[in-house]
Amino acid sequence: MTAVSRSVLVLNSGSSSVKFQVVEPDSGLSVADGIVERIGEDSSSARLTAGGADVSRDDRVADHDAALQMAFDLLDEAGARLEDLGLVAVGHRVVHGGPDLYEPTVVDDALIDKLRELSPLAPLHNPPAILGIEVARRALPDLPHVAVFDTAFFHDLPAAAATYAIDRDVAEQWQIRRYGFHGTSHQYVSEQAAAFLEAPLESLSQIVLHLGNGASASAIVGGRPVETSMGLTPMEGLVMGTRSGDIDPGVLTYLYRTAGMSVEDIETMLNRRSGVRGLGGEIDFRVLHQRIDSGDEAARLAYDVYIHRLRKYVGAYLAVLGSVDVVTFTAGVGENDAAVRRDTLTGLTAFGIELDEHLNDSPGRSARRISPEGAPTTVLVVPTNEELAIARACAGVLSGSLRHG
Ligand code: ADP
Repeated sequence: MTAVSRSVLVLNSGSSSVKFQVVEPDSGLSVADGIVERIGEDSSSARLTAGGADVSRDDRVADHDAALQMAFDLLDEAGARLEDLGLVAVGHRVVHGGPDLYEPTVVDDALIDKLRELSPLAPLHNPPAILGIEVARRALPDLPHVAVFDTAFFHDLPAAAATYAIDRDVAEQWQIRRYGFHGTSHQYVSEQAAAFLEAPLESLSQIVLHLGNGASASAIVGGRPVETSMGLTPMEGLVMGTRSGDIDPGVLTYLYRTAGMSVEDIETMLNRRSGVRGLGGEIDFRVLHQRIDSGDEAARLAYDVYIHRLRKYVGAYLAVLGSVDVVTFTAGVGENDAAVRRDTLTGLTAFGIELDEHLNDSPGRSARRISPEGAPTTVLVVPTNEELAIARACAGVLSGSLRHG
């Protein structure tokens, strides 16, 4: 393969998977993109795409150390040897930065200790990220490792949007506020939207709808978020692939007290057996549509609940913003599902929001407009690229413009 000038290995470590990508921050090129899945199970699998080559293995991967080694082996096999990649840093996606960690930060032992202290705030997400960082530091000790936080973009959310209306002392003692997540994506996509429109970011009021397996919405004025749908954890807000989104907190106490469910039972149900899967038995929207077409009532209701919640958020954010210049769809569902986009925005002409059906139905891989030319609000589809944003954040730290831990 051709020589790479300078690149960043971006790692997204979950409890049973490690997603990895080698990205050139300057050109934006993704040199290699892979995933190791079902770590610790007998059915582990790993795959990688690099320079047009696809390689995969189904060997058992015992733990996160073995997963990273597997990633390196696949890179080797695809002809993208680690020593030829010009790696200058390893970037780690960390879901929760708590109240104090929001700038991309070079990892040292003190930072790891701080992340450990934060783990109770994000028990499902931060421990695997810490594990991923430790494993990668052992494997690549000579490179700087940088933590990039999913909460960072929303750090300065206005107090009225960030504050839960609960006992102030309890909130303060336990650091309870609305933190927001998917921040890397909301920031990247809102900047790409401005670039697409050739308009200064500072001049735009935007709504960004990040619709993947996880889903969140944000309202952004002049490049700064003023609202977002996720809260203390990534469970609040929109209906998601397997998460409930907004729910009356009374349901939780009722399940605990009356149905005899444990805290773990409730958490697992809300995270893994709710949302579109919980209602319709399916997480993938392509299959959900097929089921709806074949008359499956449960799939229909799952879709309707999903769309209803999305429309409520769009309406709420219209009120928060007063007027909106651009609405942007991103992530797996947002980028690919024309029906979701249509059903989310149908009937909003009075608010200046309209879709061009032909443009909406035309698939594409790059940023594109799907509203009629000259409509008061521009509606866009913009592919997100969290790995590139993380790689660029790392490059920013290395150039000395950001702080060390
Ligand atoms: P994650 O939150 O895991 O990063 P993604 O942003 O990759 O999620 O989105 C994955 C989801 O995108 C899938 O579960 C599926 O529902 C949806 N999706 C992917 N491709 C399509 C498509 N062509 N049409 C409709 N939905 C799609």
